[in-house]
Amino acid sequence: MSHARPTRLLLTLGLLVAGPGIAPPAAASEPMEEPEKDVFALIRVTDALWRYSAGTYHGVLLVTDEGVVVTDPLSAEAATWLRKEIRRRFRQPIRYVLYSHSHPDHAYGGQALDGPGVVFVAHALAERAWVRTRAQVRMPDLTFADRLTVHLGGHDVELRYHGPDNGRGSVSMRFVQEDVLHVVDWIVVGRLPYRTLPGYDLHGTMDATEQALALPFSVFVGGHAGIGDRDGVRRYMRYLQALHDQVLNGILAGHDLPTIQREVDLSEFADLGMYDAWRDENIAGAWRLLMDGDYLDMRPEVPQER
Ligand SMILES: [Zn+2]
Repeated sequence: MSHARPTRLLLTLGLLVAGPGIAPPAAASEPMEEPEKDVFALIRVTDALWRYSAGTYHGVLLVTDEGVVVTDPLSAEAATWLRKEIRRRFRQPIRYVLYSHSHPDHAYGGQALDGPGVVFVAHALAERAWVRTRAQVRMPDLTFADRLTVHLGGHDVELRYHGPDNGRGSVSMRFVQEDVLHVVDWIVVGRLPYRTLPGYDLHGTMDATEQALALPFSVFVGGHAGIGDRDGVRRYMRYLQALHDQVLNGILAGHDLPTIQREVDLSEFADLGMYDAWRDENIAGAWRLLMDGDYLDMRPEVPQER
């Protein structure tokens, strides 16, 4: 077991402790070009809530007097490590495992967290995707369609479905007493969205992010990138809006993708992590998503019966 980059993690926590109104911790210097999973870490976010990490992947741990709530297993190796850490540090049984969405790179490995009385929870559309693809996921014991609240040891975790955004059955997780919101993949703070926006529904992601911003929370813990606050999520929303609007303007002006990549001005977001590396890929992703559906479907000359 090892702890990733302790200096940076302490800095992240230090910024958090400084309270609301501060800039979200920037991820600009983080080497997160490609997903990696072999470095495990556990950091405290609030009294009862911890973030665990396998490289650039993160989940959340809620420790109560009546047991522990875990979110995504992340991988068999990460979940095996996490189970040992929970036993060693907290001496509490795992009671719930809450899946954030269908993607296997977050959902695999739950078998290592399983045991008597452990309840696995997922949105029904995530379960359906796993059944159809015969994914080797520890299947949920409990599914829901719209909203579900888990109560444990005087704490509440609210799971909400916001429609299609990224993956199947993606939900937000609101840890009520902790004032923390946890979202995986469809919101990132301090960093650009991933590369060419694989798996994204762009309009759906914008809608879901607006809905998330309507929820009460002061701390945001992402499944990737940094820990942030409400302002960090607002800024992510503004980035999506600017990306969407400018790419759409280019399409409507009849410009091709390389021209749009030259013309788009996202420089007010240049301090975000991976800006230089992923700016053009984000534009290409937004262009593809708009051309594949959200833009094309709205053109009168396109037959809708396809
Ligand atoms: Zn992910």
